[in-house]
Amino acid sequence: MHTLDIDTVEMTLDVMKYAISRITNSAPDLGQPKKESELHALAGETITPEGIGGEKAFEIFRDVLVKATVPIDHPRHLAFVPAAPTRAAILFDLITSASSIHGAYWMEGAGGIYCENRAMDWLVSLTGMPKGAFGVFTSGGTAANLSAMVTAREACRKKKEANGEKGMILTSSGAHSSIKAMAKVIDADVHLVQTEDRMSGAQLESALYALPPEDRRRVFAVVATGGTTNAGIIDDLEGVARVCKQEGLWFHVDAAYGGGALAADSVRHLFKGIESADSVTIDPHKWLFSPYDCGAVLYRDPEQAREAHQQDGSYLDIFRDEGARGFNPSDYQIQLTRRLRGMPLWFSLATHGTDKYKWAVERGITLARESGEMIRNNPDLELVREPSLSCVLFRRKGWEPEDYTRWTYENHKAGLALVAPTKWPSGGGFETVLRFCFINPDTSESDVQCILDTLRD
Ligand SMILES: *Cc1c(COP(=O)(O)O)cnc(C)c1O
Repeated sequence: MHTLDIDTVEMTLDVMKYAISRITNSAPDLGQPKKESELHALAGETITPEGIGGEKAFEIFRDVLVKATVPIDHPRHLAFVPAAPTRAAILFDLITSASSIHGAYWMEGAGGIYCENRAMDWLVSLTGMPKGAFGVFTSGGTAANLSAMVTAREACRKKKEANGEKGMILTSSGAHSSIKAMAKVIDADVHLVQTEDRMSGAQLESALYALPPEDRRRVFAVVATGGTTNAGIIDDLEGVARVCKQEGLWFHVDAAYGGGALAADSVRHLFKGIESADSVTIDPHKWLFSPYDCGAVLYRDPEQAREAHQQDGSYLDIFRDEGARGFNPSDYQIQLTRRLRGMPLWFSLATHGTDKYKWAVERGITLARESGEMIRNNPDLELVREPSLSCVLFRRKGWEPEDYTRWTYENHKAGLALVAPTKWPSGGGFETVLRFCFINPDTSESDVQCILDTLRD
């Protein structure tokens, strides 16, 4: 498998040619999903005893399969949380694979982990967490939130006499779905603090005091959101920090989406209080221009994370040997064998410098503000709320939920844009509205105008 014959050389060149043309294409076609049976009819049998050959397999991917995917970096992909990995980061993602480094332990991964740690230094500095705070890269925000919750629960068990009761986490109604999902994994209950807008310290405090005593004593952590996924709302982190301190609760900030905005001077003040967090989640694969997948979890006191996560096994003892002493990323999150996911971010940061990151994040915020103006000046449209971070929520006057769905599919089918509706609380229920989320600095004002034009009668 490792000898390089002429076919392999040709295939390598084809793959490299494709990679170069893809990353230099800033407006790739918006692909369309197809049924699995349709794809199978087009692709045929690909896994056979003899193999179909790299050339053929690659052709099938390039000519058929990739066309059934939506490129997340299309400048008019403004649905969900899109992405825009830098070319430097994508290239280094290839290097990360080619280098075959095990990212669990310093003994095997020292040079690669060194890269990750320099990128992590920068993330920590963005939060303003105290000296000693540090973290690790994870597969995403979900894994980062889970790793933080496991650490929080273990820290709480150590502090209080464990009595076998189920733990409880308090978070806002705007929190990401992964909080509830990961609470199931650790078998904890979640109590939602109902908030229209950002969760304040006072709201958290009254929700906590309103709990019956048998529930209140089960609460071990509060999850505040540093930029809700739906609307970019940042909870009152300072107020939440104060209540957590007063009540002795773990304070986690989920800034998976919004964390990138810590780099933006224009909005940094909105995150005041994040420096007091016990743990923070940031997804470089969302607003820090890293390829999928790359999340990060930061801890005020990494030692607590190590106590919660370090795995023991006779075959692992070698990694504790004197000669192998160093930072072991696997000791601080749920995964053992791991890809060095922070390496592409490191290379891209080293290439471009942190000012370029500031600029690129500010660009998303500017696009949101300018879109807000365009919507305000359009008689058919109405802002649902002022744009926050890079999220814009707005309604098309007179439209029913079906109109929004139809419009989304039409624009996608036409290869014009991917913009999806969302729901927003209204009159005790939920209203279907439109949502833009800007990440890609290559998106232009005319891209936005071109989408808004399709909302005319
Ligand atoms: C996206 C997101 C997550 C989940 O992150 P994944 O990387 O998709 O696992 C968690 N919290 C928030 C606020 C998010 O925006």
